[in-house]
Amino acid sequence: MSQRVHNFGAGPAALPLDVLKRVQADLLDFESTGMSILEMSHRSKVYDRVHQEAMADIKTLLGASDDYEVLFMGGGARTQFALVPMNLRPSGASADYWTTGNWSRLAIAEARKAGEAREPWSSEETGHDRVPQAGEVEVDPAAAYLHYTSNNTVAGTQYHHVPDAGDVPLVCDMSSDIFSRPVDLTPFGLIYAGAQKNLGPAGVTVVIVRRDLWERSPASLPDTLSYAKMAAKASLLNTPPVFAIYIAGLVVKKLLAGGGLGEVEARNNSKAATLYGAIDGSEGFYQGHAQTASRSLMNVTFRLNQQDLEPVFIAEAAEAGLAGLKGHRSVGGIRASIYNAISAESVAALVGFMGDFQRRHG
Ligand SMILES: *Cc1c(COP(=O)(O)O)cnc(C)c1O
Repeated sequence: MSQRVHNFGAGPAALPLDVLKRVQADLLDFESTGMSILEMSHRSKVYDRVHQEAMADIKTLLGASDDYEVLFMGGGARTQFALVPMNLRPSGASADYWTTGNWSRLAIAEARKAGEAREPWSSEETGHDRVPQAGEVEVDPAAAYLHYTSNNTVAGTQYHHVPDAGDVPLVCDMSSDIFSRPVDLTPFGLIYAGAQKNLGPAGVTVVIVRRDLWERSPASLPDTLSYAKMAAKASLLNTPPVFAIYIAGLVVKKLLAGGGLGEVEARNNSKAATLYGAIDGSEGFYQGHAQTASRSLMNVTFRLNQQDLEPVFIAEAAEAGLAGLKGHRSVGGIRASIYNAISAESVAALVGFMGDFQRRHG
């Protein structure tokens, strides 16, 4: 096997090596069934246990009460941009959306196709370099929900507080920071995340939804697009993405065995502090994109003072076994995604390379 690189790609992103090895070992003969999990009925006892355990473990990890259901859905996070208003915004009602990057911009665009969505806040003018701070934005008390994006994967910004929306339920796109830190579920009506950033492979979207919200789903919706119908059938209405659910389940078991989300957060804080420290200590050679108070612990975006050196940086980094560092085309520069599965050693390797690169080119 060729050597595995330090993978800073934004998604689909690195998975824990021990999880990949477990998948490899399980592949041809899953739990002495003589077949792989890819080949067995989703109605089988063996698969059902995998499915139920993944749901239960996600609830345990989040400390979720029985008021919440975990759904496994298809179509990626972007399909949720449409399903959220279709299910949760009664006809004639409006919802609030805070725009902090390209994903939240696409979310409100979907919501506006079929009804009213208010946008009281956008960071568009400053290149999405920050998120609103606590108390900065007023929420329409009549809104069906407030939608926001907790971590902006492209711009590299993240909320470090939970918005206070009063009695208005929060709906949050946590695709790129789910399970990266503890979260108090109380104000959340619904959380969704495409798995392929921090949770598992592409192909499953995890939705955590509260009973009073899934009960809003209109009966006129297609069954597979209805939170109520999916909740009633434990996401086994149709064939679920079994392989993706199984791997996400292994990742969640690993997080639980490692001590839960408090431990995960401590590791993520330390990795991010190391990397931002290198940027801030470079005397302007490296320049962070996000304002300090909004910096993401998951996606670290920065430019080189000499922007013509950025392609050189990316190419030399790749030579040194540091992959996936090219920034998104809308922001440019460098993006290092340091999700849960990225080790402190990988971050140290990147910081070492940055210092070396600066000595040679600075
Ligand atoms: C990647 C990403 C998406 C899009 O996810 P898909 O599964 O490709 O639809 C949406 N929101 C955020 C915050 C993301 O990081």
